[in-house]
Amino acid sequence: MKLATVRVDGRTVAVRIDGNDAVELGVPDVGSLLRMPSWRSLAAGDGPRRPLDSLDYAPLVTNPDKVICVGLNYRNHILEMGRELPEHPTLFAKFRSSLIGANDEIVLPAVSARVDWEAELAVVIGARARHVSEADAPGVIAGYAVLNDISVRDYQNRTLQWLQGKTFEHSTPLGPWLVTSDESPGPSRAIRCEVDGEIMQEADTADLVFSPSTLVAYISRIVTLEPGDVISTGTPGGVGHARNPQRYLADGETVVTSIEGLGECRNVCRKERSD
Ligand code: ZN
Repeated sequence: MKLATVRVDGRTVAVRIDGNDAVELGVPDVGSLLRMPSWRSLAAGDGPRRPLDSLDYAPLVTNPDKVICVGLNYRNHILEMGRELPEHPTLFAKFRSSLIGANDEIVLPAVSARVDWEAELAVVIGARARHVSEADAPGVIAGYAVLNDISVRDYQNRTLQWLQGKTFEHSTPLGPWLVTSDESPGPSRAIRCEVDGEIMQEADTADLVFSPSTLVAYISRIVTLEPGDVISTGTPGGVGHARNPQRYLADGETVVTSIEGLGECRNVCRKERSD
């Protein structure tokens, strides 16, 4: 199943993608749906239909309890950077106000000229989980989506902690839809980021050092994972900050973030007005 959150008449509603239609499910977003224990049968139900090509995507989950991101998680990228493979995942968080829909504008903050892209596989939690084993982790994953962990590098690197460069308002595309685990390809999926048609990142999610199951198990030892929580699994090589010369996003550029089988986020960058 493919599930999305769309904007309709000033509200949001969760939908199921059904061929060329989107079927309204009567709840405000995919996160609200996942918080219902019987979400799979509710999501299979019927409701008002809308044409797929008319959809205005909201962030897939509009109000997650947590968005947890992982740094340094693609084997090739870590080795090419001359680092050793990490023993533990690097974790940081984003606030929900950073999330945007699959076709919304990425706001380039007025205070920075160093905004970068990070194509990532996002895991969406479908059941409450605490101290879950790696073997049981697939059972609490609702499915997968595309996320771009847009990063403001000068702010990120001001201190050892990255938070301030990772959670700028209206910066992080999440969508276009959740592909449920049973229909998601994996673990090998092509992941890519293009800027104005130029391929910047191209890798395979099979190259992750810490798999979705490993991350779910690890994080669930720290905190209870709730339905609708998002875990973003890290980005492969090819970010603008690591290029020579360095390259950053500019007003009017289009960022396309895609993962095989999961669709794409296509976002135009807009410089924030400082007045
Ligand atoms: Zn990232």
